[in-house]
Amino acid sequence: MGGSEQKFVNEAFETNWIAPLGPNVDGFENDIQHYLGNNSQVAVLSSGTAAIHIALQLLGVSKGDEVLCQSFTFSASANPILYQGATPVFIDSEKDTWNMSPELLEIAIRDRIEKYKKPKAIIAVHLYGMPYKADDINAIARKYEIPVVEDSAEALGSTYHNQACGTLSDMGILSFNGNKIITTSGGGALITKSLEQKNKAVFLSTQARDHAPHYEHSSVGFNYRMSNVLAGIGRGQMEVLDARVAARRHNYNFYKAHLSKYDAISFLDEPEGFYSNRWLTCVITESFELREHIRLTLLEEGIESRPLWKPMHMQPVFKDCLHFTDGTSEALFDKGLCLPSGSNLSQDNLESILHIILKSLKYHDKQLF
Ligand SMILES: *Cc1c(COP(=O)(O)O)cnc(C)c1O
Repeated sequence: MGGSEQKFVNEAFETNWIAPLGPNVDGFENDIQHYLGNNSQVAVLSSGTAAIHIALQLLGVSKGDEVLCQSFTFSASANPILYQGATPVFIDSEKDTWNMSPELLEIAIRDRIEKYKKPKAIIAVHLYGMPYKADDINAIARKYEIPVVEDSAEALGSTYHNQACGTLSDMGILSFNGNKIITTSGGGALITKSLEQKNKAVFLSTQARDHAPHYEHSSVGFNYRMSNVLAGIGRGQMEVLDARVAARRHNYNFYKAHLSKYDAISFLDEPEGFYSNRWLTCVITESFELREHIRLTLLEEGIESRPLWKPMHMQPVFKDCLHFTDGTSEALFDKGLCLPSGSNLSQDNLESILHIILKSLKYHDKQLF
C-alpha cells in the first residue's frame, strides 16, 4: 500500500458507504479517467475477468459465435468467451512484442469467414505491460469490421505512441487484482468510449434492474460492481501508480544492465513508440534446461520466479479449440522466465537475486563446455 488508502477506507466507514456504490466508486472512476485521458469512460467492477465478461455482452457475443483471442495470455482473457457460450479461436504472438500477431490474425479472420462465419470480437492483450501493435491490429479489425477488446489487465501505466493502454481499441479492461501493478485486493474496470456504454455496463453489473419503484428485470444481470470500500483502496493506489511504474522499470533496467551481456539470456526491448510499465521483467534463456536451472537455483535460496504464461492453445481446458499458431508462444513458454519484479524490491534484494542468477549461469556454462 502507498499511504493514503487507509484514509479513503476510513471515510467509507465513517460515512457508512459500505456498498457497491458511493463516493469512492465515483472518485476512483474519475481518477482513472483522468489518468487515461482520451475521453475514456470507466466503470469499476469486481474483477478484470468480470470486465471482459461485460465487454463481450456489450458486443453481443453469444452462443455459436467465435471470438479470436491471443493465445499467449492468462486464462482470464479467454474464460469469459466460454461464459457466453461462444468459442475461442487462439492466435499466436509475434516476436517484437510477444503479443497478437497481426499476420496470423488476418489469416484466422479469412479462414473463419470462409469456413464458418465472421468472428464476433477480437481480444488482444498487452502482456507483461508491453503494448501490442495496436495500429496493425486495429487496421485489420476495421477492415473486417470486428470490434477489439483490449485486455490491459497487466498494462496500466503503459503507453503506445503516448496514448494510454486501455484506450487504444474499442473497449478496454483493467485489473486491480493483488498481483497487478496497483491493487484493490481484487477488482477491475471496463473502459468504454461513450457514457452510454459505461451506463449499460453499470446496469448489467448491478443486476440489470429496470427503472421502476419495485424490482423489475427484463434482462439477465450480474453482481459485478466494485465495493465502495475497495474503491477507497484504489483511490489511494492511484496516487502511487507512477512510482510503481518507475520501480518496475527500474527492476527491468537493473536486470538488463547486468545480464544482457550474456548470450544465453535475452530481453524484450520496447519498439519505437512503445512504453511498457514493465509489470514483470521476463527473460528468454537459450534453452529449457538453462531456464529451469536458473529457476531452481533461485528457488533453493527461497526466491520464486516463474515460467512465462503457458499459451491457451496448449491448455487442457482449451485443447479442442481451433488455433492459428507458428510456434512463437510455445518457444516463449519453453525458455522464458519471469524474474522477481515486485515494486518493493530493494537494491539489496536485486543485488542478491542477480548474484544467484550469475552463479547459476557460471555453473551452467561449466556443464556446457
Ligand atoms: C489478471 C489478468 C486478468 C484478469 O483480471 P482479474 O482482475 O484477476 O480477474 C485478465 N487478463 C490478464 C492478461 C491478466 O493478467
